[in-house]
Order: sequence, then C-alpha cells, then structure tokens
Amino acid sequence: MSRAFTHDHPDILQLEAEVLDTRPGAILVEHSPFFPGGGGQLADRGILRWSGGELPVTGLTRDERGLWHTVPGDSLISGKVMLEVEPAFRASMCELHTLAHLVNALVYTQFGGALLTGAQLNADGTFRVDFDLPGADNEALRALEAPLNDIIRQDLPVSAFLMEHTEARAAPGLFRSKAVAPPVGEDGLVRIVEILGLDRQACGGTHLRSTGQSRPARIIKIDNKGRQNRRIKVAV
Ligand SMILES: [Zn+2]
Repeated sequence: MSRAFTHDHPDILQLEAEVLDTRPGAILVEHSPFFPGGGGQLADRGILRWSGGELPVTGLTRDERGLWHTVPGDSLISGKVMLEVEPAFRASMCELHTLAHLVNALVYTQFGGALLTGAQLNADGTFRVDFDLPGADNEALRALEAPLNDIIRQDLPVSAFLMEHTEARAAPGLFRSKAVAPPVGEDGLVRIVEILGLDRQACGGTHLRSTGQSRPARIIKIDNKGRQNRRIKVAV
C-alpha cells in the first residue's frame, strides 16, 4: 500500500485522477484527496466528476493498489475523473480530530497515562473519546475544559512526521489507544502527529495546522461506561 495522499497533501481537496480499475458504481484510483475514514474519523464527503456527469462519493475502500470510490447507481466510469472533497466537512473533521488529541493529551498527562479505548467524531460538530479510567472523578474530567481552551488559545503548531515503527514502539507514550494502532506502511514507517510542546502520538487522520484554528470547545457530558471506562463528550 502506497502512502496516503492526504498525509503528504493535506490541503489538496481536488484532484484529477486516472481510473485504474472500474466496476458498475465504483472506480479505483491510485491517489485520491479523499480520506477514507478510520480511527474514529468519518470518511470525507464529496463528488466525482467525469465525462458522463457528476455523482456523490458514498463509500471509500482502500486496497493494495489505491482507493475505491463508490457512487450511487451502476455507472461504468473510465478514463479521467475529477475528485472533489467537500471542504467544510473536511475542516470540521480536522477540527474535531485535533481537539480529540488535546483531550487525549490532557487525560494522558493528568490521569496517570490513561489510554484511549474508543473515539468517534460526528458530523454534528461533536465527538466522544473513551478512556480506561477506573475510579476517576468525573468533576475532575469536566474541569479539563479550561486547559483545553487554554491550549486552543496558545495556537500551538500541529505537524506530522514519519518514524520507524520499531523505534516508535520503543518510545514511551506514542501509542495511546488500547484497542487499535494506526497502519504501518510497507516502508516500515508509522506516522506521528506532534502538537508542539504538548503531545506526540501515532495517528493516520487529518488535523488542523495549529490549535488556534479550532473554535472554543465545551465538555458537554461525562458518562461512566461500565466499571472501567469514562466517556467524554465534546462540542465546538
Ligand atoms: Zn490524529
């Protein structure tokens, strides 16, 4: 699997591509500006244009050759296509995903290295993050809202770099999820997302360029999910 186009070109939301393979209602291209979803982040929305018209992209599936794009109906599309990601939806995902890193960093540092057990970004400007936090004080978790907004105001730069997987595994604290880890490329590298001066963690999603690009955030709910887990729900 080649490197994800969105990692190297996070700001390119429109791309002309050659169809590598086709079947009714779906095409495969090697490089696509669409993020296919993963790690709790929703897949991009957008459209596909070709000589026969324009259709919404309703599904994205990666294989070893590239990314399959599904469209409604059974059109057989070939030749050149124009792929266009919906900018507002991508921007919302970048914002929520970056905020999820901030909450993760605060919980990790202030609650004894607690790990993530689940995450889900939503299309309505909210997200939830679950942590392995047996016995945690919910009011203390709710109080993270102030430092969260403080980090937004500090406008810390957000960047990504690649690291050898074995080296990343040996470094403490880069893998924060109890359940899932981001994919390792065929080159043996894993992507690390850094919020300067605050946090580093392995991640394959899309993010803001700096924390100050986020709107202020509110912690709207803390739920106990079983004995072990706390669910933090956040809205912008
Ligand atoms: Zn991320």
